[in-house]
Amino acid sequence: MSVQSEELGNTGTLIYPSRIRLPYTWHVGKVGSRFYQEIKDNCKIWGIKCPKCAWVFVPPRETCPRCYCDMREWVELSDTGTLLTYTVTRYAVPGIQPLEPPFALGIIKLDGASTGLVHLLGEIDLNDISVGLRVKAVFREVREGNYLDIKYFKPIRA
Ligand SMILES: [Zn+2]
Repeated sequence: MSVQSEELGNTGTLIYPSRIRLPYTWHVGKVGSRFYQEIKDNCKIWGIKCPKCAWVFVPPRETCPRCYCDMREWVELSDTGTLLTYTVTRYAVPGIQPLEPPFALGIIKLDGASTGLVHLLGEIDLNDISVGLRVKAVFREVREGNYLDIKYFKPIRA
């Protein structure tokens, strides 16, 4: 690794840009475990419904952030949805991006859900993405029980 330094103004203070890699594990809990297991085993995306406001959250969570009540009613969602918004990443940030740029990320409202799901967009010309686009999940052939078991969402061709 090469280290570059720059002097900061006339203070004589040097700045050494660098990165810290920090391995970690993340406990996804009972609700998260079921969500990822269903994607891994069955290529099914499930949400969870609030008994009070009736919103369906995906990814699912134990407590409704609107009503603060426990949620236990699982709802099988479609693998199709509507693109609410998106961004195209054209700059590389090594070590943290799921793909080499350029690539697109979108927020997709699955049919039957009340909330949006952030994910990659694939099989699409990056200059041909628009809000309101209908998309469908593409699952990896070999799934490992994580978020990228959904490879990306692709446009539904008419
Ligand atoms: Zn609620």
